Amino acid sequence: MIGSSFARANGISGKVTYVFSLGIRFTHGIFHNSGNVSQVKDIGLGQTFPPQMVVDFIKNAVPKVSVKAIGIAIAGPVNKGVVSFAPNIWGPAIKDFPLAEELERIFKFPVEVVNNVTARALFEKCYGHAKFADSFGVITIDKGVGFKQYSNGRVLVGPDGQDGEIGHLTVNENSRRPCGCGGFGHLETDVSELAAFRIVQERSVSRAEAFRASQLYQQVAGKAADLNAEHIARAAKAGDAFTLAMLDTLCKPLAQIICNLQMADPPEKYLITGDFADTVGAPYFQALERQIKQIIPGGNQLIMPGLADKKAYLVGAGLAALNRLAA
Ligand SMILES: [Zn+2]
Repeated sequence: MIGSSFARANGISGKVTYVFSLGIRFTHGIFHNSGNVSQVKDIGLGQTFPPQMVVDFIKNAVPKVSVKAIGIAIAGPVNKGVVSFAPNIWGPAIKDFPLAEELERIFKFPVEVVNNVTARALFEKCYGHAKFADSFGVITIDKGVGFKQYSNGRVLVGPDGQDGEIGHLTVNENSRRPCGCGGFGHLETDVSELAAFRIVQERSVSRAEAFRASQLYQQVAGKAADLNAEHIARAAKAGDAFTLAMLDTLCKPLAQIICNLQMADPPEKYLITGDFADTVGAPYFQALERQIKQIIPGGNQLIMPGLADKKAYLVGAGLAALNRLAA
């Protein structure tokens, strides 16, 4: 299905597809049918904005060149161009914002808005590690946690766009840890990048001696609050016991969810990806394998790493836009 979209959309020559990835950071650029994205601009935001400001941002960011379509990958469930919620972008109070419709009113050409994990699944199918799979799942570990299933030519999003929203499953009813969505004890609060930072911060106090003896301590010059994913990656790759123990704790609830998903109608493989999982790399993946094996012997066969590519969400947004043009 994607292949035929390519062929037909390629027929529209001389115009470009402009793509956005809207999450904790906003990135955008020009998508090429080769699968590359050029002129990428990256804006770290670190705060939320009202939806109308996001619309204005997109309006101003699209260059004054000949554009045939816009593809947008957004961190939140999407139902036919309506964003059900996107707490990391415009806060938890705004529901059901018709982003595609608002933008099509301005631009007069197709604007395709999809969930960012949907975009990631399209990327994996077209260019990544799922080229030869008919059925696979994609789990993304970023500041949040996402999951989508791809089956027989399309990403399954369900009738209301909510399929695969595992980040907001309640995994710990007694937890008072707030989730970005306004809930408590959700999976995201235990397994995301932010959860990794929190575990390190907590253990820098509760296991102060072990922290001071760790590679991670050296990486951050003793300041747990300055931690980022690259620090974790370097310490883990050096075999630092404190960091590897943190990754085991971080991966345990996700391993449980992956094993629970086996009870339903599971895909052949789960691709594990997302900015945090990609940055930490092999040590993250191996920690998740260890945790899954503790629940299902041999269950580590269920997962494989996705293709680490910083442009993956943008490329996926471009593929979604091409599909729309070809529809
Ligand atoms: Zn939540």
